Amino acid sequence: MEVVPGLHWVERIWDTKVYLLFERDRLIIVDAATPGRAGAVWRYLDSLGYPPGAVDEIWITHGDVDHMGSIAALKDGSGAQVVAHRADASLVDGSASRELGPLPLASTYQKLFNWAIRSVFRYQPTPVDRPVEDGDDLGSWQVVHTPGHTPGSVSFYHPERKIIIVGDALNYRRHQLGAPPPMFTPDMAEAHASIGKIAALDFEVCCFGHGPPLMENAAQRVRAFAKSLSL
Ligand SMILES: [Zn+2]
Repeated sequence: MEVVPGLHWVERIWDTKVYLLFERDRLIIVDAATPGRAGAVWRYLDSLGYPPGAVDEIWITHGDVDHMGSIAALKDGSGAQVVAHRADASLVDGSASRELGPLPLASTYQKLFNWAIRSVFRYQPTPVDRPVEDGDDLGSWQVVHTPGHTPGSVSFYHPERKIIIVGDALNYRRHQLGAPPPMFTPDMAEAHASIGKIAALDFEVCCFGHGPPLMENAAQRVRAFAKSLSL
């Protein structure tokens, strides 16, 4: 579905949103869903008349298995460059373990969770070709570092077109904005600060990792939500 001109989300991937950006002469995939989803991305691209080789870059909002799961297959199929924040590169390339939120038995859950990423989800670690940081330009998009859910969570912001893609820094479910889930958020204070950082930007459209996009007055909605968190 075309959200706004040049920005699509791939249908038939219901677990996590995968976006396609047509950026001047470049084609970008934002996030890679869970493993086994590359075929759905290629079918959607094909419906628009593009082969996998047309993809130039794959941007990852953060190193969670439901956002980077199919990255190896997407990269293999397209030869595209993988872009992610420096602080999450070790999650994408599998050299570090995902830290969970403050849970009872956290270290046991953490071991189980990281085992499941490899053995149940069968995540294939992939190196990040271009590690980025807060304020980096990606064409006319900007990287906004919005950590907390993971150390290297980022949002992708287009100031001219007033569009932001926030990954899991915020979600939108049952018509309500939400902060990332505590169980998977090692630093909730930082996650809240990141929501405040997003709320300070000027945007009309907000796209989430989970939930439908907000198409109008999105910044106002996010500001009201940030206020409700006492930010
Ligand atoms: Zn997610």
